[in-house]
Amino acid sequence: IVVLGLESSCDETAASVVTGDGAILSNVVLSQTDAHAPFGGVVPEIAARAHIVQMDRLIAQAMTDANIDFSDLSAVAATAGPGLIGGVLVGLMTAKAIAAVADIPLIGINHLEGHALTARLTEKTTFPYLLLLVSGGHSQLLVVEAVGKYRRLGTTIDDAVGEAFDKTAKMLELGFPGGPAVERAALSGDPKKYALPRPMKGREGCNFSFSGLKTAVRQLREKMGPNATSQEISDLAASFQQAAIDSLVNRTQHAVDIFKDEFPDGDTLVVAGGVAANQYLKLELTKLTQFCKIKLAVPPPALCTDNGAMIAWAGVEKYKLGQFDSLALAARARWPLDPNAEPAPYAGY
Ligand code: ATP
Ligand code: MG
Ligand code: FE
Repeated sequence: IVVLGLESSCDETAASVVTGDGAILSNVVLSQTDAHAPFGGVVPEIAARAHIVQMDRLIAQAMTDANIDFSDLSAVAATAGPGLIGGVLVGLMTAKAIAAVADIPLIGINHLEGHALTARLTEKTTFPYLLLLVSGGHSQLLVVEAVGKYRRLGTTIDDAVGEAFDKTAKMLELGFPGGPAVERAALSGDPKKYALPRPMKGREGCNFSFSGLKTAVRQLREKMGPNATSQEISDLAASFQQAAIDSLVNRTQHAVDIFKDEFPDGDTLVVAGGVAANQYLKLELTKLTQFCKIKLAVPPPALCTDNGAMIAWAGVEKYKLGQFDSLALAARARWPLDPNAEPAPYAGY
């Protein structure tokens, strides 16, 4: 099995070739960072146009790197949602054209399912497992029971944690994208310098909240005034990072208890999505999972943030199950992993 995977749901244009036994033959990712940086966030129209301009070239590069021809492909997979619809359309339509011309099956992938299944590409991870999905648009705890079978235990009631990192970076003028910038600044900061709230900590269940923390950061930043030193900024970045991750770890601990109760055979916590690239989160979750006596699986940072390999691999998983899509498949701006989950009080999926 050889699958080409395309990703274009946000601000990364990506193409990758992955085999049935999980060899990544190529993985080309182009970040549109420079195009969006002046605006401090992703501009959907700029993103969509950049995907159109770059996609062909990236696919050609991925095929060359993998040293294969379109006739060698078993299938082509593309993100079909959720995400910025203009971008999703570019990848999906390109995949449809390839499927039609090469006469191979099309497999539409839920971008979040791509994140969710990455740990099965990078290490031996068997169902069921507990998933902490933390990215720019999502903060969720889910039980992954099988390909396509997800049960949500908790979600954010307001902002996603990646969004909180991005907004904190903006407030502290650390640059874009925010997550890695906050992590870098935090390395030279004192996380105990500023007392920040731990949203939802101690509360029942597995829901998250990050908007109160964001407001607290904004108020502290305003109090510092225009002459804040870079040490004070680093201290605030470190204090924010610790508060956000404390909150994530606390909610995850509840989820581990629920998971172990219901699935005595399950033995792994998987972390996925862009925020999973954060090394302080990895450290704290290592402590938690040692304490709870379960395994921790965190893909390498480059496979945590958006990439084509995760889409190609999800395509491999669905190919093995014979799950193909017709060329009439529609792109979706919204597409929850667990359609039966109650909507969060607001925001989220
Ligand atoms: P979604 O997957 O929900 O559709 P997305 O695709 O935009 O959203 P990802 O690419 O999966 O999100 O993740 C990007 C997010 O991860 C951004 O919010 C970014 O700030 C955050 N992020 C990336 N690296 C780090 C890091 N080292 N520490 C914290 N956050 C990080
Ligand atoms: Mg991105
Ligand atoms: Fe993503």
